[in-house]
Amino acid sequence: MRRFVDLHTHSTASDGTASPKELVHLADREKLAAVALTDHDTTDGLAAARAAAEALPELHLVGGIELSVKFHLGAMHILGLGIDERSSELAETLASLRAGRSERNDKMLARLQQLGLDISMADVQAVAQQRRGGQPGEIISRLHIAEALRRKGLVATTDEAFDTYIARGRPGYVARDGLTPCQAAETIHQADGIAALAHPVHLHCQNRSQLDGVLRDLRASGIEAIEVYHPQHNSDQTRLYLEFARRLGLLAVGGSDFHGSAKPQVELGHPRVPVSLISASRFAERLLGTSPR
Ligand code: AMP
Ligand code: MN
Ligand code: MN
Ligand code: MN
Repeated sequence: MRRFVDLHTHSTASDGTASPKELVHLADREKLAAVALTDHDTTDGLAAARAAAEALPELHLVGGIELSVKFHLGAMHILGLGIDERSSELAETLASLRAGRSERNDKMLARLQQLGLDISMADVQAVAQQRRGGQPGEIISRLHIAEALRRKGLVATTDEAFDTYIARGRPGYVARDGLTPCQAAETIHQADGIAALAHPVHLHCQNRSQLDGVLRDLRASGIEAIEVYHPQHNSDQTRLYLEFARRLGLLAVGGSDFHGSAKPQVELGHPRVPVSLISASRFAERLLGTSPR
């Protein structure tokens, strides 16, 4: 059996630049045992990803989602892994998150215009539409706004767009309504998925005891897994999160958070996430398509 998985990726259905089909083919070329497509607030890419994966017997496609959750310290994102996108509860929650996202995007564009920047929602939509091969799509994220600012010559790089204008705390930033961790976990469970805390480094916990408290609260809210492996975790952080996963009885997972050329420093399948983390767990069937062993 193949030895590595990648359980966190984005396609053109949200703010990645590879189509769902391209993503699945890339994952097979990387010889991954499983890849999860975890777009922000949409499962629109999953049908095409599943269709592409049908022809690839050594690759298991995991239905996924990435949800933003309200959190006082930093950014909290929850991944749903192994979801069934036919869940009507999931569809309803995602529709309401997309409406909130769209309102927030309009407010951010108004802020940027007030700051004197010559940028419109049409400029931002053009970025998403071009990446989707001309198809308009519902999800616009800050990464699209950053790219539109770059294309208009208002910043030199998308990183500069975040640092100067749209990162949390910068003048063009507007917060979104989010779910509570409990609501996120419940929505994911209604769709038969596994709820995993994404990239804990972005929580901005100041010390071990604060992290311990946050993780225990999340576990009580129904979170079952923690993303130990992520490109933004250094080796000390990876070791720390693995230790917490073991101590708290949470499944250790991981992924690349691949966004294609929108995040060119990130490679699909890296960091390496061993399949052995999952193959003996009670989640093996849903994440690998095989029985536990
Ligand atoms: P949104 O969901 O609209 O808030 O946008 C989140 C997207 O922006 C995700 O793809 C993040 O990876 C990306 N992002 C958030 N903060 C930063 C940052 N400081 N630098 C680069 N990308 C970021
Ligand atoms: Mn993204
Ligand atoms: Mn995230
Ligand atoms: Mn992500």
